[in-house]
Amino acid sequence: MVDVPHSPAVPPETVHVISDAATGLRGVIVLHSTRRGPAAGGCRLWHYPDRAAMTADALRLAEGMAYKNALADLPLGGGKAVIDLPDDTFDRRRLFAAFGRAVADLDGAYVTAEDVGTTVDDMAAVREQTHHVAGLAPTGGRPGGDPSPWTALGVFLSMREAARRRYDAGLEDLTVAVQGLGNVGSALCALLHEAGAKLIVAEPRPGVAAAIACRYGAEIMGRDAILGARCDVFAPCALGGVIDRVAIRRLQAKLVCGGANNVLAGVEDGDRLADRGVLYAPDYVVNAGGIINVAAEYLGWSAGEAAARVEATGQRLASMLDYAERIGLAPHRAADALARERLAAPPAVAWEVA
Ligand code: NAD
Repeated sequence: MVDVPHSPAVPPETVHVISDAATGLRGVIVLHSTRRGPAAGGCRLWHYPDRAAMTADALRLAEGMAYKNALADLPLGGGKAVIDLPDDTFDRRRLFAAFGRAVADLDGAYVTAEDVGTTVDDMAAVREQTHHVAGLAPTGGRPGGDPSPWTALGVFLSMREAARRRYDAGLEDLTVAVQGLGNVGSALCALLHEAGAKLIVAEPRPGVAAAIACRYGAEIMGRDAILGARCDVFAPCALGGVIDRVAIRRLQAKLVCGGANNVLAGVEDGDRLADRGVLYAPDYVVNAGGIINVAAEYLGWSAGEAAARVEATGQRLASMLDYAERIGLAPHRAADALARERLAAPPAVAWEVA
């Protein structure tokens, strides 16, 4: 899942190549910005065709994290780690211990957590080397664990807000096409079903798609076909870069709102959506629930504080869309402008790690 091999629009602060021959670790940690606090962003384990593709993925993801954290009002900068999935069999615990040592070397400038391909157990291996890690199993009612349900909740609340604006309708009156039924997509389907939305889903794992279809009465479509599904909302929850020139011509939905990172193949694709009257809810505004929970865990906030901040995701999207209308920019451009402004002017209160 290479999230669009683009250069970031704004250069990162630092790029750290990480490797450890004994465990097969080969990766990169990008600190896009530490002006608002430690660069926080998950660690992706994925098979990349070459080092350039791996680095391009990390650069763009790290920039996205900086924007996401800034717009979620978190006292965090943005960063990302990617690890190339070793070809041979490998000792997963040792690989993540080596990664943990690389994180420790950055001495708190980078905070890691799960991302695509990594798990709570992997983060436990990282924790043996450094405390600059979150997404660990929760203890004593504190925030922690898999961030995906929180991501899904933020996407759901954003979709409700965006549907009200675009269709003047509640989700119970709409059909939502969900692309990808992994951690986020499945949890989103549960919330949408509960809210009375009709579901169309696509997922390469037939058993997973069948289970969701059975549980929520969803219609299953092919992976490619779902882009042209007859629906009101398209919710990308699998890949980055799915909204490109070709996809836009096929899209029937007038609202795009999903959990995937880097949904737009390019910034011009956001313009194309706007030109066709499609409301795009910027990915890093709506999918911040997971990082909010990660931040709460790392910074020592209560579960109540974490939940309240995630529950405010719909309101944050509303403010952002109001801002976009005020300044006459399409939502994706307005979100970028606002995020860059915030990154240039860090919060007055210095960050603290609990
Ligand atoms: P995941 O790996 O659990 O799920 C991805 C799912 O997409 C898998 O089930 C996979 O089989 C499916 N898929 C792959 N290719 C597909 C295709 N062409 N069509 C349809 N389905 C396809 O990952 P996740 O944690 O659910 O994350 C999904 C997306 O959301 C990613 O882009 C991730 O970066 C982003 N995201 C996740 C979180 C989080 O908290 N997990 C937070 C923010 C953003």
